[in-house]
Amino acid sequence: MIEFLPEQVEVLRQLQRACQDAGVDAVVLPEIPTRETDAQREYLRAHRKCLLCEYCSLEEEQNLRIVAENASFLAVVPYWAIWPFEVLVCRRHRLGSLLEFTESEVAHIGGNLKQLASEYDNVFDVPFPYSLGFHQSPSDGSPHAEWHFHAHFYPPLLRSARVRKFMVGFERLGNAQRDITPEIAAQRLREVMPTRSD
Ligand SMILES: [Zn+2]
Ligand SMILES: [Zn+2]
Repeated sequence: MIEFLPEQVEVLRQLQRACQDAGVDAVVLPEIPTRETDAQREYLRAHRKCLLCEYCSLEEEQNLRIVAENASFLAVVPYWAIWPFEVLVCRRHRLGSLLEFTESEVAHIGGNLKQLASEYDNVFDVPFPYSLGFHQSPSDGSPHAEWHFHAHFYPPLLRSARVRKFMVGFERLGNAQRDITPEIAAQRLREVMPTRSD
């Protein structure tokens, strides 16, 4: 299991005390994780099952949008993707936070992200730019049985190293539009997949 160093814990405690003294709520969830918390909680309440576990099962069953996988993680171009080569990386089974990972799972997610980064670089034969972020259960001290750890990749390139997608025009004024389907994007990534890394 990953553990914080005592110095890191002390810095977090000092920050929390400073926020409390200033009357600021130190536990603030930004908009997107808040919406994900609500959606996962509602799905768990309604179905007694984890939303992202169910989604991983669906992707494995269809096997159309998987672009990297190993014993612990599955990377897919999700069917709702807006960016051309957007990818969702999910742990195969529910675990709320990076802090709960075993050493082998840390190695597995490293292998999965590395495989995906290689695929990206191979698509247009250039170092592929992207935003990458992890989403995990809130650290507010409450249990979050609904939360399933995952990562999002948002790369901007569309048709070449120079032609990128811009979220402008109708996408700012109406709604986001897809330029290529998630299945075509997944096929492109699968075609340049390096050998599997566990
Ligand atoms: Zn799950
Ligand atoms: Zn997320």
